[in-house]
Order: sequence, then C-alpha cells, then structure tokens
Amino acid sequence: METKYFTIDETKELKDQVKEAGDILKNGGLVAFPTETVYGLGGDAKNKDASKAIYAAKGRPSDNPLIVHIPDVSWVDGIVSEIPEAAKKLADAFWPGPMTLIFKKNDVIPLETTGGLDTVAVRLPSHPVARALMEESGVYIAAPSANTSGRPSPTKAKHVAEDLSGKIDAIIDGGEVNIGLESTIIDVTEDIPTILRPGYISLDDVKAVVGEARMDPGILSKDSNVRPKAPGMRYRHYAPKGNLIVVNGEKEKVCAYINEQIQNAKDLGKKVAVLSSSETASMYENAKVYAIGSLNDEEEIARNLYDVLRRFDEEEMELIFSEAFETPHIGQAIMNRLLKAAGHQVVSL
Ligand code: AMP
Ligand code: MG
Repeated sequence: METKYFTIDETKELKDQVKEAGDILKNGGLVAFPTETVYGLGGDAKNKDASKAIYAAKGRPSDNPLIVHIPDVSWVDGIVSEIPEAAKKLADAFWPGPMTLIFKKNDVIPLETTGGLDTVAVRLPSHPVARALMEESGVYIAAPSANTSGRPSPTKAKHVAEDLSGKIDAIIDGGEVNIGLESTIIDVTEDIPTILRPGYISLDDVKAVVGEARMDPGILSKDSNVRPKAPGMRYRHYAPKGNLIVVNGEKEKVCAYINEQIQNAKDLGKKVAVLSSSETASMYENAKVYAIGSLNDEEEIARNLYDVLRRFDEEEMELIFSEAFETPHIGQAIMNRLLKAAGHQVVSL
C-alpha cells in the first residue's frame, strides 16, 4: 500500500488540510497523526475491522487495548456506561491534555477495540491537528502509539514513517510533539483512582484534584508476579538492540563508574554510548555521548528520550550506559520508560 503523506502548514486553515485524512478514517482506513504526547495511529473506534487493521499494522498483541480519542467531553456519554464523580473532576482539571481515563464501557465500542475488556480508555487531546482531525472526521478515533509494537513511541513523523510506511493509508506530519511521553492513564472504575501508567500528569497532580489516589502496585513492583493492570504495561517495550544499563547514584561516582566501564568495553572492541544530561555530557571519555537535556528542564529530557532510544539502533550501539533522571515532576514517568528500555538493569552506587 502507498502511504499518503500530508505536511501541515500552520499558517493555513487546519480544517482543509485534514479533510482527506478524515475521509480515510470514515471509510475504515488508518491515519497516523500528531498529539501532544506522541504520534497516534488512528482508526474508527466503532469499526472492528479498523481496529484489527491497527493491531496488524503495529504487530500489536490483540489483548492490548486501544485508547479512544474524542474532540469534546460531551462525547464520553456515547461510549461509557457510567461516569464516576472522580472522572468529572479529573476531566475538568486535565482535559484537553495528556490524561487517559478508564471507564466501564457500553456496547458502542466493540471488544476488538478494547482488547476484549469491558472497560474503555478515553482521551481528549489538546493538539490542534488531532482535534481538527476528530472534528473533521466526526468519528471516535481509536489510536495507540504509531510505532511498531516494542519500538519506542514516535515523537516525530519521521519515526512513524520508519515503522509504518507502506502499512497504513496516511501520515499527517505536524512536526515534533510537545511532551514526548505517552499519557497518564487513570483507572476511575474502582473506588480509589489508580494510575496505571505514569505520565506528564503526576500522582500528586491527581491527588490535588480527587484527594485520595494511588499508583498501580503492578508498575512499581519488580516482582513479576504482581501484574500491571494495563495490559500494555506488561510487555517489554522501547528496548534498544544494544544492552542498556542505568547507573544511579551521586554524580561524580556515576561518571567515574561509567568511564571505567567504557574502558573495559572498548578493550573488548564494543561500540559504547552514554545517555546523559547536558550538564554532565563533557565528563565522559571515549564513548559517543547523547545529551538529552538539562536537569533544569525535565520537559526537554522527556521530549528527547524516544528519539535517542531510536538513534542507538540506527548507530548500532552495542552497550549503553544511562544516567538516572529522577527529576521532580515527570521523573517518575521518565524513569518508568527508561527502566523498561533497560529491562530493569540498574547499577546503584
Ligand atoms: P498506547 O496508546 O500505545 O500508549 O497504548 C495504550 C495503553 O493504554 C496500553 O498500555 C493499554 O494497555 C492501555 N489501555 C487501553 N485501554 C485500557 C483499558 N480498558 N484498561 C486498562 N488499560 C488500558
Ligand atoms: Mg504504545
């Protein structure tokens, strides 16, 4: 299949530029589009064949449900069986934005879209292109991240093209995304709102709105018997082909340890990389250093993480040492993704 490529011109009317893509969605086709978190791969959420096509294009396990995107909060009513009080408060506080809520579903969204679950994930994104596409197509858009399953989520249209060119109908290039990490997923079907996937909106942000809230024990535990509730959090994800190890501790110790390891690896003839902050980048010797952002700008770190994880593969890095990025607000989300990429290999000094 030939994949159409639409490049957004921000100086022109958006509506006209997404019209053809909207028609593709209405007719059951697949369109990748930018959101403020990562690029999504969209299909008509009510059309089970479109959902099946999304799984096929991504190579995604069919029990890993899709998130349904809406352009306005009034659309929630159409697909859920119940709207808890906590959901209303969270929607008021964080929509449009990088938050997904899990509701009990009604019969409108087919089980193919929800991976067989009787709940449905819903998000109202703030990105103008995503919103124009939803308004223009008039359909509930089921959209997981627009990457091949297991690869880092796409933060640029180029990443989508790398993974899905020839497999989907169209890609809308709306430039680099803002946040660069997937949405915070909050389950509001139980008494206490529970974060199933950390993201830009933190547990403290959620508590400030609803009072009591918690983190799913399954994502905090290293014990593989404690399963995360979100199916997608159970899979290995984002892993570069090279061996990625996170080194945690005092700055000087981390640098000394990594420099020593670089030397050992070089002696064995390996291609070594370091993932660092911009402040510490110059402290490493004899390795390719990828500085992803300033420790004073955690948003920059989040935005660059997936791009760098992809570059490790392109540049065939065999061994990668990463600093830990325990930044104040979104550090938990950044570390959740980084530790997954590292298969939880951590050296604590
Ligand atoms: P992605 O859009 O690629 O970030 O993937 C969507 C994420 O949402 C995956 O981790 C899914 O497991 C999760 N998800 C979607 N629907 C549900 C649901 N009904 N219950 C729990 N997790 C869900
Ligand atoms: Mg994904």
